[in-house]
Amino acid sequence: MYLVLLGPPGAGKGTQAKRLAGSLSLPHISTGDILRQNVKDGTDLGKQAKGIMDKGLLVPDDLVAKMLDERFNNPDIKKGFILDGYPRTLAQAGTLDDILGSKGLAVDLVVYLNTSDEVIIKRLTGRLVCSKCGANFHVTNMPPKSKGICDNCGSSLYQRSDDNETTVRKRLEVYKQEVSSLIEYYSRIKKLHSLNADLDAGVVLKQIIDLSSKESR
Ligand code: AMP
Repeated sequence: MYLVLLGPPGAGKGTQAKRLAGSLSLPHISTGDILRQNVKDGTDLGKQAKGIMDKGLLVPDDLVAKMLDERFNNPDIKKGFILDGYPRTLAQAGTLDDILGSKGLAVDLVVYLNTSDEVIIKRLTGRLVCSKCGANFHVTNMPPKSKGICDNCGSSLYQRSDDNETTVRKRLEVYKQEVSSLIEYYSRIKKLHSLNADLDAGVVLKQIIDLSSKESR
């Protein structure tokens, strides 16, 4: 199952992708996570991407495409993947088709997590992320048991540098400029399913699992 999660920043793509990856035993591939790892490791890609990411803008297509192509060379994607954060533009959707096509693969299902702006801003400006396992918490909606400490692995929690209100609004603006053409593309090729992601994360997860099992029949 080659599943793509589409949706604005804060729609819960990362949370859903992690849970789905566990339930479906597929790798979770997040372009944002790979870029942040590059920033952390101080690679050339990370150095080029850092300033762009802090402004809430998109990292140039050629850099992200090369990074993704390399990731897709890992044999763990043989049975599928949960892709989160890519594509973000129609051009990237074309690139994704090309990279997968060159390996004899194709996207099976695209799930669009539709969310309102108010919910997104509240979710993101209060989001806390584990520095080690990547688990997400929220200062009020889902606080960790001990302040600043991950419930799962005991590592420290941090706030992403792009999760401040100014950058979140910019990320939303960038997202909205591009998403309609993506939705149109995936609707046209009959791969798109839209879900209300303002609902409880468990409800949304179940809906995605139902869609993916219908798709694999
Ligand atoms: P995310 O973790 O998906 O919210 O991504 C964080 C940031 O990484 C974005 O605001 C972009 O700067 C960059 N990024 C992630 N995925 C992409 C992509 N597909 N194309 C360009 N930039 C990306």
